[in-house]
Amino acid sequence: MDLKELKEKLVRKNVSVWEKRDRNIIDDYSKGYKKFIDFSKTERRAVEYSVKILEEKGFKPLDYYLNLGKIEDGDGVYYVNNHKSLFALKVKGNLTNGINLVGAHVDAPRLDLKPEPIIEDTGIAMAKTHYYGGVKKYQWLNIPLELHGVIIKSDGTKIDVAIGDNEDDPVFVISDLLPHLDRRTGDVKEVFTGESLNLLLGTISISYDEEIKDSVKLNILNILHEKYGIVEEDFISAELEVVPSLPARDVGLDRSLIAAYGHDDRICSYTALTALIESEPEFRSAAIILTDKEETGSDGNTGAKHHFWIYVVKKLLKLQGCTNIELGIDDVLINSTLLSADVTAAFDPNFKEVHDPANAPKLGYGIAIAKYTGARGKAGTNDANAEVVGKLRKVFNENGVIWQTGELGKVDQGGGGTIAKFFAEKGLSVVDAGVPLFGMHSPYELASKGDLYETYYAYKVFLNKY
Ligand code: MN
Ligand code: MN
Repeated sequence: MDLKELKEKLVRKNVSVWEKRDRNIIDDYSKGYKKFIDFSKTERRAVEYSVKILEEKGFKPLDYYLNLGKIEDGDGVYYVNNHKSLFALKVKGNLTNGINLVGAHVDAPRLDLKPEPIIEDTGIAMAKTHYYGGVKKYQWLNIPLELHGVIIKSDGTKIDVAIGDNEDDPVFVISDLLPHLDRRTGDVKEVFTGESLNLLLGTISISYDEEIKDSVKLNILNILHEKYGIVEEDFISAELEVVPSLPARDVGLDRSLIAAYGHDDRICSYTALTALIESEPEFRSAAIILTDKEETGSDGNTGAKHHFWIYVVKKLLKLQGCTNIELGIDDVLINSTLLSADVTAAFDPNFKEVHDPANAPKLGYGIAIAKYTGARGKAGTNDANAEVVGKLRKVFNENGVIWQTGELGKVDQGGGGTIAKFFAEKGLSVVDAGVPLFGMHSPYELASKGDLYETYYAYKVFLNKY
């Protein structure tokens, strides 16, 4: 027996996307992604951009079909939930046959402004922040930051804030201590505290009359009043997010990687969105769900725990002539399969000790399938049924998808969860599958263009053929 042949036959070999795919196609696709990620600095903006693309490709809001009173194969429908999460579906056959769904999240770790953010201390005006999601706080010091979001004024008008979009806009910085004076030692979690993440706003007084207290803060409030017509109390009904001012760039001499803020999880959101738009589902309907609040546990009425998309499916079932919606929706849920589309940690040679090399995905080797996530003894995980992973593997292999598998780090090293379990508890079959990253949750995360493209291709194969 030829041992080379035997090895070929028995041993699984990971395949590089760069070996199999046309570089030009990968680069073309990456350009579209970089436009998306540079615009989508908040979950609201990611939803806004997604709706724009869906509309361009003929998708219509749910209300359009409700007014029309019918829905047919090939129709594209979308629904936006509270500006921050989105459901979009392409109809193929009876929804009670189940839906092939790809679910990702559009929120990303960041710093939010506090409800009463503006303070003055020794002639410096600052904005107090409260971090959102899992951040390594020191990574946010002395880097350029932008401010994005909305302010609802007392009369109900909505002000859009986008400071940092234009090249001549100012940026914001949280200043760190110089090394010359930094004698702090100990756990970084204690050295760098959330309460000290204060954004520099200004240093000029509105008046140098010593009778007027907090005159630098007053100057800032005056600037904001002139620009937006707001007063201090308006911050209470605002969502203002501090995000890195770091546009997406190619990385490395071979330009194989992209650095950007918010790959987690807008990279899976974009690949899911474009896969749905390009999809031609063969067996049943195809859909995507883009959720908010994943980084804080999927709570709230824009997070994955709120099943707003089931509301939409019920309406569509009615349009398809379903008379028993209660039974119909159970059929939909139990027959559906969802790819929980989220990023994972790629094997990093600089941090070998946290990975199991046999079970860590590698940059550039395709979409990473994770049978389970969670921490310790698989706590808090949807552990996908072998049958479901088996079918996914078959569909991927039959259609030439370059895929790999992996766990997020070593056993007992840490771990993490995704939106998977919130769909599994409704009865859907769920498997995690997404893009491996370096530097996840940092202000400038790294992804392989090869994995970006392959993930888009894998989602399309899943939506069409699962
Ligand atoms: Mn994520
Ligand atoms: Mn995350």
